[in-house]
Order: sequence, then structure tokens, then C-alpha cells
Amino acid sequence: MDKEKIKCSFCDRDKRDTAVLIAGISGHICDKCIEQAQFIIREEMSGKEKGQFSNLNLLKPAEIKKYLDEYIIGQDEAKKVLAVAVYNHFKRLTQKIGRKDEDVDIEKSNIIMVGETGTGKTLLARTIANLLHVPFCIADATVLTEAGYVGEDVESILSRLLQAADYDVSAAERGIVFIDEIDKIARKGDNASITRDVSGEGVQQGLLKLLEGSTVNVPPQGGRKHPEQKLVSLNTRNILFICGGAFDGIDRIIGKRMLTQSIGYTKDKGAENVDKTNFLQYITAPDLKKFGLIPELIGRLPIVTHLNPLTKDTLQRILVEPKNALIKQYIKLFKIDGVDLKIEKEVLELIVDKAVEFKLGARGLRSICEAILLDTMFELPSQKEIKSVNITLDFALEKLEKAKISKLKAA
Ligand code: ADP
Repeated sequence: MDKEKIKCSFCDRDKRDTAVLIAGISGHICDKCIEQAQFIIREEMSGKEKGQFSNLNLLKPAEIKKYLDEYIIGQDEAKKVLAVAVYNHFKRLTQKIGRKDEDVDIEKSNIIMVGETGTGKTLLARTIANLLHVPFCIADATVLTEAGYVGEDVESILSRLLQAADYDVSAAERGIVFIDEIDKIARKGDNASITRDVSGEGVQQGLLKLLEGSTVNVPPQGGRKHPEQKLVSLNTRNILFICGGAFDGIDRIIGKRMLTQSIGYTKDKGAENVDKTNFLQYITAPDLKKFGLIPELIGRLPIVTHLNPLTKDTLQRILVEPKNALIKQYIKLFKIDGVDLKIEKEVLELIVDKAVEFKLGARGLRSICEAILLDTMFELPSQKEIKSVNITLDFALEKLEKAKISKLKAA
């Protein structure tokens, strides 16, 4: 082609009138058209983001809670607190995107959930992430150590999020991170030690910059950062952090505070009005400080909520009520083989009693069900003539007797 005749295929501008003209397989594009295309893409993308967030914004706290109710039994207080926090979080995101000149800066509503293990903390965080269709990851605070020590850097938490988002940085930047066992990085005692506190305070310090919102360089594969590694830059400003922990012994701290506070001060809220069976419901930020979280960390986790211990009644409901309740799952599994599964009420009570007896909590329900149903699930697929199975109390007792109780306890 005559060099002088080359033109931009988009705007027909002559090569001589352009600063740069890039050649494609069957055409050319000039610098001006590239700029314009870039502008259009940016507009489109931000429009999409705005749309996405305003969609989320349509979900009112009551609707979020209703969704949580389908999967999680009880824990109303935590559900309410989470629903409002998530609603406000996404409201904050739309504000940031919609109007850059906002004078009131809505702060991030990172959350800390305190409750015994197996009471549904992870399940709550995961269910919220499912509802919002945002990337979600679970990180374990116990594996984290201060930079320079054996263990994982705090940034590895974000590596997991990046993986959950299929390495889509902008999706990861709107994700939800659940940091489990946050209580395990509490400062041990108040004595300043000469040796560095490898697993505690240093890690808490490290988490600060993640929680408050800053640009963090993340090793895409996780683990430790090393000099040759390519790092991905991730902004945590819009990532919602939900922390969870059992905080063993914090009830004593709360109890002490509640009972001493109530002496003499308020007449109507005396010690006798304090529910001594569940001190966790009165948890406040100062209790977390006393337990060993540093004030800066607590400041970045402004929303504190608690989960109640599971009662027998709750366990029984967990077995049958949630959308993907265990019993519903077994019924479906049997149905695939064309078998109608019925489980007597007494068997459900037995399953709950054993979970309580072995102190297995909700997690143990599954292993007990497996022990009862294993033989049936093994034999049934080969017995095509059987169309229905009724699990009776005697049958369940016999199977449980056979199953190694020690195995159940270890589950
Ligand atoms: P945590 O994070 O508090 O240790 P999880 O959320 O991992 O506990 O709960 C363990 C399992 O127990 C869940 O997968 C779920 O099957 C069940 N579970 C616990 N609490 C509830 C609840 N309130 N409602 C429904 N299922 C629950």
C-alpha cells in the first residue's frame, strides 16, 4: 500500500495528521481514536459498577436478614447487625463511586463476631458473600506471623481473595474476607516481653493496614513474599472484613464487668437483671481490649456482635430447617436412587443428644448421621427393589453402637 495513503480505519484521518497510527491485521487505528475508545470503556465500566452497587443497594437490611434466615437458624442479633453493616457498606461504595466530592466520609463497617466454635460464624459470612455475589475467602489468623518469621505474611489473606476472584483485581477489591480465629492473635498478658511477640501483637499491627483500606502488594500465589516474586497491587478500601473468634474466657471478663458495674449505679439494671447464662450478649469493645486485642485493631473493627451457644432445640432445627439442612440433603441423595427416606422424630432427637453428649456441636451432626446411615447408603444402590426406607430409633441405636464412639468424638 502507498505509505502516504494509510488512514485510520475509524476516523479516516490521514497518517500525516496523527501522532501514532497502529496497524492491525486489516486496518489501522490512530492515537485519538484509541483515547476515545479508552474513555468509552471507562464510562461503560463505571456505569456497570454503579449498576451493580445500586442493585445491591436495593437489598434492604430486612431482605438480607430474610435470606440469612433461610440458611442459618437463630442468631437473630448477629444477623441483624450483619445485615445493617453490609447494607451500610454497600451504601458507602455507591457514595464513593457516584459522588467524588462527598464531604462526609462514611467509614468502613468491618465486623467482629464473637461466639463459640461451630455456632455459625463462618456460615454467616459465607452466606452473605453468596447473596451479594462477591468473591469470598476464609483466612486463618493462626497461620499468620509478623514479617520476617516463619509462617504466612498477612498479605497472604488477600492472595486467597484474589484466587477466589479468579485473579480479577477489581472484583477482589469488592470482596469479603472472613478472618477466623482472630482471638488467637491476642496479646498474651500485659507484660512487655523482651523477646518479640511473633504470633500476637505483631500480626495485629500487620492487619491494621489491610483493614483500614490501603494499597497492598499481594503475592498472587500466597505464602511468603520474596524478592523475585511478581506482586499484584490491591486496594483494600472497599473490601469488607469480617473477623470471628471464640475468645475463650471472655465471658469471665464480661461477667466481671457486668456484675461490678451493676452494683450501686443503676437501680433497675442490677446484677439480678443480668443473664448470667450468656454473658456474651453484653460484649463491648473494651472487653476485647482486655482480652488482648490492641485498641487500633478494635478501632478498625467497629461493629461487634455475638453468637449464642447452640441449644438442643437449635441443633434440632439445624438438622431439618435450613434450605440445605443435613436431613434434606440425605433425602435428596436417596431420592436420586429412587428411594423414599423417612427418619423418625426420635432418631432426630437421638442425633442431637449425641452431638451434645460428645460436645460436637453442629459440626458433629453430620458425622452422627453418617454413622447411622452408612450401611444403608452402602447396600441400597444394589437393592433395586427397595423403594422406601424408614430409619427407626432401634435401628439408629444399633448403628451408633456399632460405630466407634471414639471416632465420632474425634470428628
Ligand atoms: P464457626 O465458624 O462459628 O466455628 P461454622 O459456621 O463453621 O462455625 O459452623 C459449622 C457448621 O455448623 C456449619 O457448616 C453449619 O452446617 C452448622 N451450623 C452452625 N450453626 C448453625 C446455625 N445457626 N444454623 C445452621 N447451621 C449451623
